[in-house]
Amino acid sequence: MIPKSEVPDAAVQASGSVAQRTIAVVGDAWTLRILRSVFRGQRRHGEFVKEFGVSRAVLSDRLARLVGYGVLERAVLDGSHPEYRLTERGLDLWSLFLAMWQWEIDWGTARDPDTWAPDLPRSQVSHSVCGHPMRPQLRCLACRQLVLPFDTRAEPSMQDPARAVSQVPVSSGFRKARASAEPAARTQRLSRIIGDRWNSAVVAAAFRGTRLFARFEAELKIGPAQLSDRLAELQQLGILRTRVLAGARLEYRLTQAGIALFPMTLELVRWGNRWLSEGADPLAVRHLPCGSVLQARWHCGHCVQELARDAVRFT
Ligand SMILES: [Zn+2]
Ligand SMILES: [Zn+2]
Repeated sequence: MIPKSEVPDAAVQASGSVAQRTIAVVGDAWTLRILRSVFRGQRRHGEFVKEFGVSRAVLSDRLARLVGYGVLERAVLDGSHPEYRLTERGLDLWSLFLAMWQWEIDWGTARDPDTWAPDLPRSQVSHSVCGHPMRPQLRCLACRQLVLPFDTRAEPSMQDPARAVSQVPVSSGFRKARASAEPAARTQRLSRIIGDRWNSAVVAAAFRGTRLFARFEAELKIGPAQLSDRLAELQQLGILRTRVLAGARLEYRLTQAGIALFPMTLELVRWGNRWLSEGADPLAVRHLPCGSVLQARWHCGHCVQELARDAVRFT
């Protein structure tokens, strides 16, 4: 639990929803870029500015938030230049980043300057234990089977993740950031999907099988104009596609790239349940093939051992 005094964003604390808390902490384009740099060993203001050209004001704001959320810690070693390091809570985001990295390799345009990680080369992930390049796999801890997108179900007794996301007020800080300082919205593909509460809610509903405009509207309690915007944006981002039904009605379905977001949604739930769930209902996801409450673990696609954080190499 984050001590109250350290939380800069009251919306995170006030909300009863793990999903919203998680999105509030990591769902922001600049935050994702900063964390990615920290995971690659960068630690200082000047290094972040040099790497992705963020303004000092935006950078200071996001670093303060990340320290407040307990994801980074700030240390002043030589009296002048503070350094930022991942805490345990921050280090535990490694598998979310692994899922994001894999999605970028599969579906992003890794050399496109407009992705969330513009300088990311087409790269490989390798496993230092077996020494092989590999494709990470998500497996169920109970039955050891691969976890596939439509083999899981959010527990009906638990809070509805999409609704939880949709009910939460966006803090003024995040709203302001989106309007001004954020990298161009249409081009920040992955961060627009994860980092926008409505987009992530629409994607979550699509994973539950929602396909019709009126159903999205009713389930998410979203206004029609706002819903139209989000459905259009998600199509533009290549996450949803439409099909015309009888009577000229449209249905919206996840594309392959949309379905491939699934490990990321699981990682967000896992991390939020572990670190931000005090005072809120944790979200439970059931693995339908074995019937257990899903605990998914990343495994090496080559040797099939479970992956430890420090055994994953990005090359
Ligand atoms: Zn299972
Ligand atoms: Zn291996």
